Amino acid sequence: MKTIIEQIDAGQLNTDTIKKAGDILKNGGLVAFPTETVYGLGADALNEDAAKKIYAAKGRPSDNPLIIHIADMNALDKITETIPEKAEIAAKEFWPGPLTMIFQKADIVPMGTTGGLDTVAVRMPKHPAAKEIIRAGGGYIAAPSANTSGRPSPTTARHVEEDLTGKIDMIVDGGAVTIGVESTILDMTVEPPMILRPGAVTKDMLERLIGEVAVDKTLIEPDSKKIPKAPGMKYRHYAPKAELTILEGDIYRVTEAINRLAEAKINEGFKVGIIGTEETIERYSAGNVKCIGTRQNEMTVAGNLYGILRDFDSDGTDYIYSESFSSGGIGNAVMNRLLKAAGHHLVHV
Ligand code: AMP
Ligand code: MG
Repeated sequence: MKTIIEQIDAGQLNTDTIKKAGDILKNGGLVAFPTETVYGLGADALNEDAAKKIYAAKGRPSDNPLIIHIADMNALDKITETIPEKAEIAAKEFWPGPLTMIFQKADIVPMGTTGGLDTVAVRMPKHPAAKEIIRAGGGYIAAPSANTSGRPSPTTARHVEEDLTGKIDMIVDGGAVTIGVESTILDMTVEPPMILRPGAVTKDMLERLIGEVAVDKTLIEPDSKKIPKAPGMKYRHYAPKAELTILEGDIYRVTEAINRLAEAKINEGFKVGIIGTEETIERYSAGNVKCIGTRQNEMTVAGNLYGILRDFDSDGTDYIYSESFSSGGIGNAVMNRLLKAAGHHLVHV
């Protein structure tokens, strides 16, 4: 299959590109497009055959349900059975934006989209190109991250090309995304509502608005034998090819320990990558050191995370050592993805 790649300017949308993307989606094809979180791989969510193509292109396990992306509030009525009041309040505040909510699904939503579940995950993205492509494609677009399953999620069109060229119909290139980690997932079918995946919309932000919010235990206790409530969270996800170790503790001791570990591996002949921050970068003396952002603003860290993991893959890196991030806010989402990428290999120094 030939993959069409077209660039689009978020400030001035090219209507021909939007129309082309919409026509492909309406005809059951696959289009990757930018959202504010990561690039999504879109298909008509109400067309079971189209949704199935997403699983094939990504190599995604069939029990891992898709998030349906909508562009207008009235679209939510059509695909859900009931909309709890708290969901309406959260939607008013955070939609369009990086929040996905789970509802009882309406019959119109095929099981092929929900991985056999009778619930459906829905998000209204903020990215102007995403909104227009969703509308042009019929209004209900299933769109998981546009990567090969198991690889770090794509934050640029180039990342999508690396994974999916020849497997999908079109890539709409709208430049780098702004957030860089996937949406917060909030299950509205339980009381209190429960966070199944941390993202840019934090527990605090939600609790200020709708009261108590629970957190899926498997996010807090990674060793727990419990199965995550979001099926996708059980897979080793976001993973670079290198073995990743996260070091936490006093930042001075962390940098010293990383230097020691890096030197030892380099002496054994391995390629070593280091993930540091603006505050620490000068302290590293060995290996391929990349700056992920500043601790003063962990949004910068979220924005660079997946790109850096992919860069280490292209460099043929064998071992990666990373500082840890856990100051709350979006740092929780960053740490959740880093821990998964590391297979929960966390060392306290
Ligand atoms: P992705 O879009 O690739 O970032 O993955 C979507 C995430 O949403 C996966 O972790 C899914 O398991 C999760 N998800 C989608 N639909 C549901 C649902 N109905 N119930 C629970 N989790 C869901
Ligand atoms: Mg994904």
